[in-house]
Amino acid sequence: MAILEEPIKEVLVLKNYIDGEWVESEGELHDIVNPATRKVIAKAPSSTEKEVDEAVKAANQAFPEWRKTTPLARCRCLFRLKELLEENFEELSRIQTMEHGKTIDESRGETRRGIENVEVATGIPSLMMGETLEDIATGIDEYLIRQPLGVFSCIAPFNFPFMVPLWFAPYAVATGNCVIVKPSPRDPISQVKLGELVDEAGFPPGVWNIIHGGGEVARALLENKDIKGACFVGSTPVAKEIYKKCGEVGKRVIAQGGAKNFIVIMSDADLEKTIPALMTSFYGNTGQRCLSGANALVVGDDAFYKKFLQEFVDAASKIKIGYGLDEGIQMGPMQSEEGKRRVLGFIEKGIEEGAKIILDGRKVEIKGNYPLDCFLGPTVFENVKPYMTIAKEEIFGPVASIIRAKSLDEAIDIIHTSRYGNAACIFTSSGKTAREFQYRVQCGNIGINIGIAAPMAFFPFSGMKDSFFGILHGQGKEVIRFFTESKVVIQRWW
Ligand code: NAD
Repeated sequence: MAILEEPIKEVLVLKNYIDGEWVESEGELHDIVNPATRKVIAKAPSSTEKEVDEAVKAANQAFPEWRKTTPLARCRCLFRLKELLEENFEELSRIQTMEHGKTIDESRGETRRGIENVEVATGIPSLMMGETLEDIATGIDEYLIRQPLGVFSCIAPFNFPFMVPLWFAPYAVATGNCVIVKPSPRDPISQVKLGELVDEAGFPPGVWNIIHGGGEVARALLENKDIKGACFVGSTPVAKEIYKKCGEVGKRVIAQGGAKNFIVIMSDADLEKTIPALMTSFYGNTGQRCLSGANALVVGDDAFYKKFLQEFVDAASKIKIGYGLDEGIQMGPMQSEEGKRRVLGFIEKGIEEGAKIILDGRKVEIKGNYPLDCFLGPTVFENVKPYMTIAKEEIFGPVASIIRAKSLDEAIDIIHTSRYGNAACIFTSSGKTAREFQYRVQCGNIGINIGIAAPMAFFPFSGMKDSFFGILHGQGKEVIRFFTESKVVIQRWW
């Protein structure tokens, strides 16, 4: 199949989007490299503290008028944005593939999931409504109104460069707040393209801002006293640090962290349907998904285990690897050489600790003539024990660890040894088993005969233990609560 046309044809120099203007940063530039072709496609700045302050100032100046803009009028900007996103759907998706490496179909899925959040946020006139009760005492009524707070920051990870800021930003602005998005410094182009559409959609200057940079810029946003809250998605150590910092400085925070997800396969699972779902779970997005399967927990006798293993490895070894803009490809490269090196380290550790490698992704064959720098094939380990590093740590790459359990009880006990609690899935044909699993497992997102338990935009994106720090989650009704202050009014008229 032919390679789709690349939307980025020359090296882009990315600018910050502050107060409705694209402003060149005075900060140092670094290269953004297409992980498949290894060509430089953009240069992104590490913004200065002064630039962060300017963005915060612009957002705060925009806030009073934006707050007064009626929810319906605010939504009109979101409706225009939604139309523009649809018109630019394919270009947005191809940009994700170019800067991240994921396949074009994965990018299209990401674009769709991002747009769905804009759609849900357009329901704000209903979603933001308060509560009322008359006659709380004779002649006295009480009601609750939800008011926006001011300016929020959104600090995003590299693995979904388009979608993750859309878990927050549309709801922030729909509720009358202003937002500053800091994309991942590794793949910030998608947010720039999104910013161009935000600009075209007619949001007033300062309502939606974008500032580039890494940890330094994120810290400047966290320390700025004129920002009311932070939405963070990324690794657990940083999520913890951000949660702590926000507590110290009195900011609201949603901090979504890393993951190590278990997928339980019961011997009554329909393997014909389960195996394809597992391939997407373990190897989709090249394993760089916080909802990816990482540990397969197989419950069954030796005959079932053997059959499962055979089918899993057969399917994994057939995955076509290459440049994501080739529509025949099923798995792209890792997003960076550094990410690949990290995964290689885990593979070596797995071997060293006694797990048996039965499919070795280090010997990768790809379609097309591309440098192998970031490519890695699907890898499978068996004889993995729950105490091994590869079973405990987040690998964030295309590596499956197969663990055996004697029963559902033992499988749940193993899941509970993990410090993470992002997602857990079960494949079974028994409703009783599924219900037991859903009831007992301490993870925020549960899949039943689903390999990627990704909540839709109108449900919260949950997470427990070291995968989530905070109370209210992103997306859905919870994020509306997060972005608003509840004010209670008690009134009596003589
Ligand atoms: P990361 O933690 O390295 O970076 C995330 C963001 O934080 C980036 O914008 C980065 O610039 C910024 N940052 C880095 N160091 C910082 C610091 N010390 N203080 C403040 N900000 C800092 O994460 P990543 O590698 O970009 O993303 C992968 C991780 O994200 C994985 O652990 C994955 O599981 C997790 N993730 C979680 C979810 C979820 O919903 N729970 C979703 C997607 C990704």
